[in-house]
Amino acid sequence: MAHRVSAIVVAIDGPAGSGKSSVSKQVARELGYAYLDTGAAYRALAWMLLDRGLDAENPLVVVESLAEFEFAVGTDPDHYFVKVGPDDVTIAIREPWVTSEVRLVARLPEVRAYLTALFRRVVAEASQPGIVVEGRDITTVVAPDATARILLTASEEARMGRRSAELVDQSAAVVGEQLRSRDRADSRVVDFMNAADGVTTVDSTELDFGQTVSAVVDVVRTAVMRASHG
Ligand code: C5P
Repeated sequence: MAHRVSAIVVAIDGPAGSGKSSVSKQVARELGYAYLDTGAAYRALAWMLLDRGLDAENPLVVVESLAEFEFAVGTDPDHYFVKVGPDDVTIAIREPWVTSEVRLVARLPEVRAYLTALFRRVVAEASQPGIVVEGRDITTVVAPDATARILLTASEEARMGRRSAELVDQSAAVVGEQLRSRDRADSRVVDFMNAADGVTTVDSTELDFGQTVSAVVDVVRTAVMRASHG
């Protein structure tokens, strides 16, 4: 069997509310690439622990639960789904009771190493010409040698505004505090607020959705051109 030319990898990191997921999905659509949402795996693991009544506070319990973690994620940006075993958890993993517990699994090095290996397998198996991978540590840990490496940021105010527009049933103050506390917990584990060497920052504070997608697509096209000439 002929070896497939290695796929173009687009690594996108950024904080909650930066528009990372919807932008990454749209970039994948426009370029005909696959899309991998790594946050979904951390969320799905937290969901499984909570759903089974396991103690997510106990690192040993969390690490042992990895053996039972049958995670599946759709990498077609038009057919996105997240499953744990037979359960479709696409919607459930976005619920606030899951979001607030994800840090308990994301802080554990064993969990990060396990999921990083899983993400690399998904990237290696992608059948499209490229894959957009989004998360917190993609440019630095999961795919530091990606073709394009992007940090998608936005001011805290803009991020809060976007999140509270999504979560209509919660007050702006509650949403703001949740976002800040998630950023605090996450940045103790990985630095996703500052671009590592060679990472291009796209600041979406003053950009609308379409402009942000175009800015990211431009960075990808330039990087792909550079890679094919280098
Ligand atoms: O991106 P999303 O908000 O869905 O991520 C949920 C949580 O998963 C983050 O708050 C973070 O704790 C964790 N995460 C991570 N590393 C990634 C992606 C997500 O630690 N690459």
